[in-house]
Amino acid sequence: MEPVIGLEVHAQLLTDSKMFCGCSTRYSGAPPNTHCCAVCAGMPGALPVLNARALDFGIRSALALNCTIATTSRFDRKNYSYPDVPKGYQISQFEEPIGRRGRLDFSSDGQPVSWGITRLHLEEDTGKTTHTSVAGRDVSLVDYNRSGIPLMEIVTEPETHAPAEAREFFAALRQILMYLEVNDGNLQEGSMRADVNISLRQPGGELGPKVEIKNLNSFRAVQRALEYEIDRQNRVLAEGGTIYQETRGWDERGERTVPQRTKEYAHDYRYFPEPDLPPLTISESQVESFRASLPELPLARSIRFVQAYGLTPYQAHVLTLERATADYFERAVAVAVASPAGLANWITGDLARLTHESGAGLQSIPVAAEHVAQLVGMVEQSEITGSAGKQVLEAMFTTGERPEAVVDRLDLRQMGDASTLEVLATEVLAENPKLVETYRSGKHNAIQAMVGKAMAKSKGKANPQKVREILEVKLQ
Ligand code: ADP
Ligand code: MG
Ligand code: ZN
Repeated sequence: MEPVIGLEVHAQLLTDSKMFCGCSTRYSGAPPNTHCCAVCAGMPGALPVLNARALDFGIRSALALNCTIATTSRFDRKNYSYPDVPKGYQISQFEEPIGRRGRLDFSSDGQPVSWGITRLHLEEDTGKTTHTSVAGRDVSLVDYNRSGIPLMEIVTEPETHAPAEAREFFAALRQILMYLEVNDGNLQEGSMRADVNISLRQPGGELGPKVEIKNLNSFRAVQRALEYEIDRQNRVLAEGGTIYQETRGWDERGERTVPQRTKEYAHDYRYFPEPDLPPLTISESQVESFRASLPELPLARSIRFVQAYGLTPYQAHVLTLERATADYFERAVAVAVASPAGLANWITGDLARLTHESGAGLQSIPVAAEHVAQLVGMVEQSEITGSAGKQVLEAMFTTGERPEAVVDRLDLRQMGDASTLEVLATEVLAENPKLVETYRSGKHNAIQAMVGKAMAKSKGKANPQKVREILEVKLQ
């Protein structure tokens, strides 16, 4: 049997206000029901107004996913009664979504793959229910701060895919939405979450009944839930059982899916056109201007990095994971004093480590890309050693100084002249008779330790290549 997989991904849009009212979207940490007005509470007579920026974000996302943009589209009411849906319905796009028939190209395990996108539509988030106990009584509390937050839903075609590829799809989608700056990519906080659908069929045969696993908010959960479910369905079928269409949940601790509701309990949403919002019309020329405003997307950018800068595909991949890193790299390359490959190594290596340790993003570190270029240039010109370079970068990270200033202040210019190195080598030999003895007994790699001693004595300033040559001559 082969697995057929389809994903439905919800992404919160990074707008300042909610989808249909002026309430602020920055509710994180705010007391319950303080970001809530008559529109989000669904008071009779309160009228929704579409957030123009949310529409922009939806159109740009749909274009980035190669969708056809509907020149006329509309909103529908999705009716269901649940405490966290204060109006008794959600406004969504059912019949006429903003984007259809798209495609996401990405690479999975180094191979290019393409997933069909069925649709992209706009809707609003629900509130949040908390089941707790107050004064010894079980109660359910509702908080409408999240209710009405702009959401975008992206639905993929049901196709034969592996669970690991589904994980890569989710990651690639997140990366694109972050490049577009329409979503913050924060999975733990639920800014993006995936429902995965999975069924088994005879290769190339008819689709089997699907099982939906709802609300996965990590890459790992997407892959593991699908793997588990493929095993479970295969087992049921092998034992002569039947798979029923149902919704299951993911038990993170137990690493298994658990039944939630079967088809008999499926909702009948009784969709109908939202009477309080006019239909949307988008002109061809508006669509074209949105298309022109799209940034270069990660896959295209990594291919260009390989071609234009001679990077390895891996380096290009790492550099383009986040737009801020790729932008930083290109600012550094533009200074043209260091090799692109050298910059790639420093930026994805030491600089990434320091940035990570500082807890900041690359946008807010005190080290300018131009200064990193100068630093790497100095290392490549042998003005300072690689290990001195690391020291300089750390200092730049705390003080924001230019690299030359740090090099001068810490007196790190490489010791390259022969007479200074001669003295250094003589001292190292005199101070380490054991190493000399070891070397003379035939264990020639003892010289490595002597070079190390010389580097330490010179505080990383000696040219290791030259020291080694001088030591070899002296030892012979
Ligand atoms: P529903 O109406 O139950 O939401 P949809 O047809 O809208 O179903 O599909 C929802 C998601 O499930 C889509 O991502 C789609 O690709 C996927 N899907 C549909 N049928 C199957 C199937 N038989 N096996 C696996 N995934 C499926
Ligand atoms: Mg659906
Ligand atoms: Zn509101």
